[in-house]
Amino acid sequence: MPIKPKGEFSLIYQHIAPHAGQRSDVLLGIGDDAAILTPAPQHRLVVASDMLIADRHFFAQQDAYDVGWKSLAVNLSDLAAMGAKPQWALLSLALTKDHAKPAWLERFMQGWSDLARQYDVELVGGDTTRGNQLTISVTVIGTVGQAQSALRRSGAVVGDDIWLSGTIGDAGLALQQMRQGVRVEDTLATRLHRPVPRVALGQALLPLATAAMDVSDGLLADLQHLMTASDVGAQLYSRDLPFTTAVKEWAEVDGWYLPLTSGDDYELLFTASSSCRDQMQQLSALLGLKLTRVGRVLSADQGLSVWDGQQLLPLPAYLGFDHFSGNL
Ligand code: ADP
Ligand code: MG
Repeated sequence: MPIKPKGEFSLIYQHIAPHAGQRSDVLLGIGDDAAILTPAPQHRLVVASDMLIADRHFFAQQDAYDVGWKSLAVNLSDLAAMGAKPQWALLSLALTKDHAKPAWLERFMQGWSDLARQYDVELVGGDTTRGNQLTISVTVIGTVGQAQSALRRSGAVVGDDIWLSGTIGDAGLALQQMRQGVRVEDTLATRLHRPVPRVALGQALLPLATAAMDVSDGLLADLQHLMTASDVGAQLYSRDLPFTTAVKEWAEVDGWYLPLTSGDDYELLFTASSSCRDQMQQLSALLGLKLTRVGRVLSADQGLSVWDGQQLLPLPAYLGFDHFSGNL
């Protein structure tokens, strides 16, 4: 009779490992001291890691399914921003007494694996400990062929178009509604709790984009990161920004800069030569994903500006989320 694992090992082998998935390039997955992976020849590894802490990145009482989904999604979004193909993941959990339970873990892993399956990402290892605060640390590994260099924040060229996928501000509005205790519209709640990483878009942009990143801390803050990395300036056209009707109404009442500074969008922000406009339109149709031209790359000395038609809008003092800026 096999020995029945107890405690930590029961959690790992009975409630996590069965949801790991299976790839033929995993020589050794969960169960040993380390995993052994076989990247395809002539490929580079692209690695990213993001940590989520209860009541900082998500509500501790949130449905565990959403927490599992989002933990992987925000990490895949980083690989998407590099144009990488996701393949493997590591999951480290610090669990409180309330969370170190089969029911919570099963639901967490259901959310995780429903997303992982879509991209064939195998969970190959991690760590499980007890913690005072539910903490989830995920590492994802993907690949890019050596012939195609990965997308970076640097590389934007003066005169390039600035593009955004999807819509922005939806998650920010959902969060605001939750904080105010008003009913959150389902579509907005889904955008906050189950973001969809733009993985296919990232890979399709490899031959097209000059620079790219994902929007996680707020559009203005993230655009500034891209500008710094590329040593360029940028102008945005506020009337062209892709907002849902709900976000448009929110911005009209509370201020246009809210959706530009709220985080958790997980859309791709990228730059491309103006000669790529037709290809972007085709790509948008192919992926069934809105791609909107929202601005233009300027020289570094011109800084960041947002234009409402011919009118220059004042920039807010707060451009986006920063854990250490004292705005929390
Ligand atoms: P070690 O003590 O050698 O670090 P552990 O006992 O922590 O090993 O883990 C046993 C195995 O289970 C390892 O293969 C590890 O990668 C895997 N593992 C532990 N926790 C997790 C987790 N949360 N998700 C996926 N794999 C895990
Ligand atoms: Mg360990």
